[in-house]
Amino acid sequence: MYRKTILATVAISLGAFVAVAEGQSQGNGSGVVDHGQANEPPMLGIHWDKNTHAAMGAGRRVANMTYHGGKIMTSATTVAFFRGTSWSGYSGDKITGMDQWYSGFGGSNYSKSVTEYSGTNGYASGQVTHQGHFVDTRAETSKGNTSVVLSEVCAAITSSGTQIDPSGNGYYALYSDQPRGSANYCAYHSYGTCNGQGIQFAFFWKLDGDAGCDPQDTSGLHSQGLAAIANVSGHELSEAMTDPASPGAWYDAAGAENGDKCAWTFGAPLVAFSNGYQWKVQGEWSNAAYTAGTGYPNSSGQKGCLSGL
Ligand SMILES: [Zn+2]
Repeated sequence: MYRKTILATVAISLGAFVAVAEGQSQGNGSGVVDHGQANEPPMLGIHWDKNTHAAMGAGRRVANMTYHGGKIMTSATTVAFFRGTSWSGYSGDKITGMDQWYSGFGGSNYSKSVTEYSGTNGYASGQVTHQGHFVDTRAETSKGNTSVVLSEVCAAITSSGTQIDPSGNGYYALYSDQPRGSANYCAYHSYGTCNGQGIQFAFFWKLDGDAGCDPQDTSGLHSQGLAAIANVSGHELSEAMTDPASPGAWYDAAGAENGDKCAWTFGAPLVAFSNGYQWKVQGEWSNAAYTAGTGYPNSSGQKGCLSGL
């Protein structure tokens, strides 16, 4: 993503939740623009689809990320929300699979890619307390709009009786049953306020049969749709941990966060999480690995990505 954070001021109250206002522009001059408007939560860490990522690559030859003065997530308390009418009676592997994914993230070598980064509130630990999932079979009508997604996340928090992590480390992932259509990204993360408390949230399109967002996991361990949302979930959670909110923490001079810098590159066919489940998941950028020359190369050939092995 590209980020500019200049206009922050107004917060608007929309029922139970408040959207944090932030002026934000996306794009690199190639015509890539997001929905971001003043008075809407920003799209952070957008996981662009493969074609868009490739088109932006030439402008991304920036080395290490720098610190921008904000907080990091010292840990994460996660809930996965599956929103949309078609989740009713769902019998595939995504819901159980994502519970396994979040339950195994913390303590994995993969999660440790974030532990070199600190903010005003300390170091990122990569630890996750997963509180499970909630299926919300109301229609998913956001079309990716950040304000609508925040309202859907907040509605799911309320309906499920989820206790928001008061530390600000609550991370609520909304898995849509809608395909992305003409949208040029697979997922994003953002932040806002629900019932008066700050939250982190993320949005994921349904990626079944979507070549532009497919990690091409050939392990046979997961359905293609699960493998795809698992991969982008690694990107977004790692980014939220290291750059959760305005004024921002860790991103590079092109606005790219740790997931962006290694998007669509994989250091290993499968990465084992701490509970033994294995995933094909992109690596995450490490300033330390880049400086030492010990990472694997990203799509610009910069050796700063950690595979999570
Ligand atoms: Zn990203």
